[in-house]
Amino acid sequence: MDKIIRKIIYPGTFDPIHNGHIDIATRAAKLFDSLEFVVADNSEKNPLFSGDERSQLISDSTQHIENIKVSQFKGLVVNHAKNSNAIAIIRGLRHVSDFEFEFQMAMMNFHLDPDIASLFMMPDEKYIHLNSTVVKDVVKNGGDISAFVPIGVNKALLSKYSQ
Ligand code: ADP
Repeated sequence: MDKIIRKIIYPGTFDPIHNGHIDIATRAAKLFDSLEFVVADNSEKNPLFSGDERSQLISDSTQHIENIKVSQFKGLVVNHAKNSNAIAIIRGLRHVSDFEFEFQMAMMNFHLDPDIASLFMMPDEKYIHLNSTVVKDVVKNGGDISAFVPIGVNKALLSKYSQ
């Protein structure tokens, strides 16, 4: 009998990836055979990094984890999950404020495709207040963010803001 591959996707903007994202992905990847970051186009959010740059930063930052892959998508997350044979979507939950939006999304995704499960994880408390906007603001204003992002991401941010 063929082995069933249990795959989960981790969708988001990841502009750029930081240690909170990596914390969630690392722990979720241990529970599944494969985890795929799916980088949303999200041009309406006017990201600092292009889709390709965001994907490359994720690949570089997670290459030590064998069962993590990266792809890009546009459209409905549940469709992407189905097309890539994933059985679940993982999202991070930091504060109660995240819950409201995530709850709505999970309900809608359940309506769109009840076969795709929505799972949530809280990060290590060191990362509970971390988000990509804060990361960018600190670097833009000359602060040191190295405790919260991989080295490659720190370099990419410094290079963006020195242009
Ligand atoms: P969004 O997908 O809402 O555009 P992000 O790309 O920053 O935002 O986040 C992708 C996913 O990672 C979301 O589920 C978000 O809640 C989660 N996330 C973001 N920052 C953290 C963090 N510090 N700790 C845990 N999860 C996080």
